[in-house]
Amino acid sequence: MPRTALARPSSQCEVCRQWDHSALCGDCIARFAAPAPRCARCGLRLALPAEACGACLLDPPPFEHTVCAADYGFPWDGLIAAFKFRGRPELATVLAERLHAAVRSTAAPLPQWVLPVPLAPARLAERGYNQAWELARRLARALGVAADAHLLWRPADSLHQADLGRAERQRNLRGAFMVDPRRRGEIAGRRVVLVDDVMTTGATAREAATALLRGGAAAVDVWVVARTPDG
Ligand SMILES: [Zn+2]
Ligand SMILES: [Zn+2]
Repeated sequence: MPRTALARPSSQCEVCRQWDHSALCGDCIARFAAPAPRCARCGLRLALPAEACGACLLDPPPFEHTVCAADYGFPWDGLIAAFKFRGRPELATVLAERLHAAVRSTAAPLPQWVLPVPLAPARLAERGYNQAWELARRLARALGVAADAHLLWRPADSLHQADLGRAERQRNLRGAFMVDPRRRGEIAGRRVVLVDDVMTTGATAREAATALLRGGAAAVDVWVVARTPDG
């Protein structure tokens, strides 16, 4: 289709640098964000879609569904790192669009609340923004659902998860999250979605979901841009 002056591409694709109307071009979306069979519970990529993978059958997580847009790998690792560590919060828009498309393509129920996985206060001060909130508020707006960055707290400064092994990650996080005690009534009996950029082992999502259920939520789901494949 010939391009008119009005439809002139306005930005370069973040991945392949071709000019397009969005920061991620249609070719790259088709190539790197194609739907894949996953565990409905934890989002792990599987050979065939399943209600639960082996790990979730053995040790079911406290959340019911996980939606993710892609496996963590090229080009998502670079985009997420730029978004998170190199001061490019504007990439939240493209990443949130991918996650929004993944949410719409699943049968996962819409929640009453969309909450970001909170950052520890020291990390928030260092980075200047919570990447999960940048995603969560865009998704909530697109879906017409309430979002809040302060309902779930992360009071203690836990060690940086990336430096720890799987068992240590879970131990490090125990008791790391809590629902604001003054606002428990707002999530009592509600379905809540936790948003984060990446799910690696799921340890963070487990602890945050446990805190929400303890705080009165009826059910918790998890939405992440990228899921680390089982390696
Ligand atoms: Zn591209
Ligand atoms: Zn699973």
